[in-house]
Amino acid sequence: MSGKNAVKPAQPVSLAPVPLARGREFLSIPGPTNVPEVVLQAMHRPAVDIYAEELLETTGQCLADMKRVFRTQGDTYIYIGNGHGGWEAALTNTLSRGDRVLVLESGRFAKGWGEQGDMLGMTVEILPGSWRHAVDPAAVEARLKADTRHEIKAILVVQIDTASGVVNDIPAIRAAIDAARHPALFMVDGIASVGCMEYEMDAWNIDISITCSQKGMMMTPGLAFVAASPKAKAAHLKANLRTAYWDWTARDYPENYRKFCGTAPEHMLFGLRAALGLLFEEGLENVWARHRALAAAVQAAVEVWSKGGALEFNIPDPAARSPSVTTILTPGMDPQPLRDFTRHNLGVVLGSGIGDLTGKAIRIAHMGYANAPMVLGTLGATEVALGALGIPHGAGGVEAAIAALSAHFKPVR
Ligand SMILES: *Cc1c(COP(=O)(O)O)cnc(C)c1O
Repeated sequence: MSGKNAVKPAQPVSLAPVPLARGREFLSIPGPTNVPEVVLQAMHRPAVDIYAEELLETTGQCLADMKRVFRTQGDTYIYIGNGHGGWEAALTNTLSRGDRVLVLESGRFAKGWGEQGDMLGMTVEILPGSWRHAVDPAAVEARLKADTRHEIKAILVVQIDTASGVVNDIPAIRAAIDAARHPALFMVDGIASVGCMEYEMDAWNIDISITCSQKGMMMTPGLAFVAASPKAKAAHLKANLRTAYWDWTARDYPENYRKFCGTAPEHMLFGLRAALGLLFEEGLENVWARHRALAAAVQAAVEVWSKGGALEFNIPDPAARSPSVTTILTPGMDPQPLRDFTRHNLGVVLGSGIGDLTGKAIRIAHMGYANAPMVLGTLGATEVALGALGIPHGAGGVEAAIAALSAHFKPVR
């Protein structure tokens, strides 16, 4: 062996281009989304006594703040769970074995919720929809009008389907239910939309709202949020699917440990409090407007890229495209090499297609804690990858996104 002064052999020089990924990884997937530093910092602390005043206060504050987020006077619940937990809480608290529920299809997620109902012993009926269009309120009205005996006890819909990238018109669906004079509970999954776009639980007469922590709420995965209208609370009293963990009655008691059916998720509550602080500091309306502007930039880029023929919006109707995630079809092309390229070479993680779109699409998220450079960076990296991989695309997508953002700031005359 050589002595301690031996010169280290030089790194072999590689002729392959070096990756440009070192630096902060850009997570551009539709959940989990980017967690702000102040939220992470709020969680980085020792555990506290479960009876500590600060914890009790934080719980009360988070429950009250979730009413502001859902825009409701109804009761709110925080579960240790993910979005699927929120779905189960909604169903078990208000429905009974054998109840018929109507699932409004517009992609993956409402159907997944319906599958839960099926396992719980409900009769699940799917109002067929498409992965490329929003739910048709007229079809909802027609189906409900045909249900003259009011066998349908609940209507399940997502506001944004994160798989298809569609946004459903919740007030229009409410109007359809009213036009049919149907008494079913109206349950809305706002998991990919609450904290990203208009959501008005009381004004839209929604009976149960659901969201969770890791999307528009800018928190780590692990919490589900449910809000219940008085009509939902009345249905709760007659439901026979209630279980100890999800039960609203138990969680309505004042004791903190009952609110969580056991130990509170202390650190997540501290993080949530910080995330809610960010939302209210920016102002919910401004948060929604930011999402709209960033979505417009992404859509402008995709519009241009689509001219090459290899990429295409999954949702053809611009008005039905979600402000929080854009789903892009890659007809005839496996999109995985594109995702691998952006991740390994450029440090950007793009979303993959899921459900029916597995292996057929990519998704770009613009959801939660996202700003202009994050979106422009993601679009820029995507365009670099399209060029490097020789995927046909219209040139100038990023320029179009820049123009869209510039237009956002043009003074209104
Ligand atoms: C992510 C998502 C879900 C599922 O949430 P999990 O936390 O993964 O259980 C349900 N619905 C929608 C619309 C979603 O975007």
